Amino acid sequence: MSRMARRPLANLIRAAAAGGPKRGGAIQSRAASSDAGSGADDDVDFGFLFDIDGVIVRGREVLPFAPNAFRKLVDGAGRFRVPTVFVTNAGNRMRRSKAEQLSNWLGIDVTEDQVVMSHSPLKMYKEYHDKHVLVTGQGPIYDIAKQLGFKKVTTMKTLRHVFPSLDAVDHKRRRAAPCGFSEFFPPIEAVVLFGEPTRWETSLQLLIDVLVTDGHPSAKPPARTVHYPHLPVLACNMDLQWMAEAVMPRFGHGAFLVSLENLYKKITGRDLIYTALVGKPSEVTYRHGEHVLQLEARKMGLKKPIKSIYCIGDNVCTDIFGANLYNRYIQSTRWNGGESAEAAAGLLPGGYGEIGLSRSIDRLITDESELETAENCFSVLVETGVFSRDSMGGFASSYSPLEHSPRDFLPAETSFQEPTYTVRNVLEAVELIFEKERFK
Ligand SMILES: [Mg+2]
Repeated sequence: MSRMARRPLANLIRAAAAGGPKRGGAIQSRAASSDAGSGADDDVDFGFLFDIDGVIVRGREVLPFAPNAFRKLVDGAGRFRVPTVFVTNAGNRMRRSKAEQLSNWLGIDVTEDQVVMSHSPLKMYKEYHDKHVLVTGQGPIYDIAKQLGFKKVTTMKTLRHVFPSLDAVDHKRRRAAPCGFSEFFPPIEAVVLFGEPTRWETSLQLLIDVLVTDGHPSAKPPARTVHYPHLPVLACNMDLQWMAEAVMPRFGHGAFLVSLENLYKKITGRDLIYTALVGKPSEVTYRHGEHVLQLEARKMGLKKPIKSIYCIGDNVCTDIFGANLYNRYIQSTRWNGGESAEAAAGLLPGGYGEIGLSRSIDRLITDESELETAENCFSVLVETGVFSRDSMGGFASSYSPLEHSPRDFLPAETSFQEPTYTVRNVLEAVELIFEKERFK
């Protein structure tokens, strides 16, 4: 490993940031040529990954500066001038429906190809697509699972119907009558947690049942034995909390995962192991996001691949931490000639089979490898969501501590919660980055 590779990430970010033009300085802009069939200057070599909640909308309300910010990103014909992708930890919709929502909010055409949902990277986990999977979450999760490539899908509702005596917390919902075909039920072979379910007690109980019985909850395991390692568990969206209309953050899927992890540990004495944890801040999601962004650049006919990625978000634990983690991954890959980047990046604290498995990228056999050329990933914090300043101009209490990060990402380096840039809103973010990139 070179000496550069051991430089702390914060130094690399500061050095990169210091190299940019000062705000308000005289800047020579790039020539605007547009013969590539898109609205882009074909010399562009940077791109955007935008978070949605807290950056573009709060609950159902579009934030005031968002439409203006996105008008700057398109030309007169509505074509994007800079490669742009939206990366959200939401998972309760199909990509097409999120793209339609974004188009309505922003008054521009956003395609489904530009949307990365928390579950999108699961299409890379092909070895699980032929397994019989149990899925949890809200929204059209059966259809989402099918579209991602999973062929044999059972929902929590179906599982509860087949094994009615298992769900016993709510006395009014108890049903003791056995289901006639439960013994013919094909065993669950993997679990996919898409997002926070409703009726947590039902999902927590039946998930534990499936894990301790190796996929067939009517078959009681022999006394004092636990099937371990348990079935593969793939989880999306680790946000402990998220910002909606309420004055304080609300429980996210991360809160459900904390409950599941702790119950499993308390009941079995073993650690719950995730085969995959996707969604921000996972490096897997940023790598997939970069792939999608590079594809956008290619479609726009840009001459150069993207060198600088700007990630704009409102959550320090998710957007800033994730962008900084991915920047470390990029730097490690570059300085190691692409080899053992995960080990160099400290990605695998316990090795395969341990907690580090959930964040492993290199073991994924994908066709996405050729499109990784970014040299830097910058984090940009906006103050319109989870993060805000207090009345003294300092960091407010909502500047979430990194201890709130998902279990598999701890301990987290404090420097990873430092954004490269902090701005008031998404419009200021776009203006600052255009200035830094000398783009008009
Ligand atoms: Mg957000």
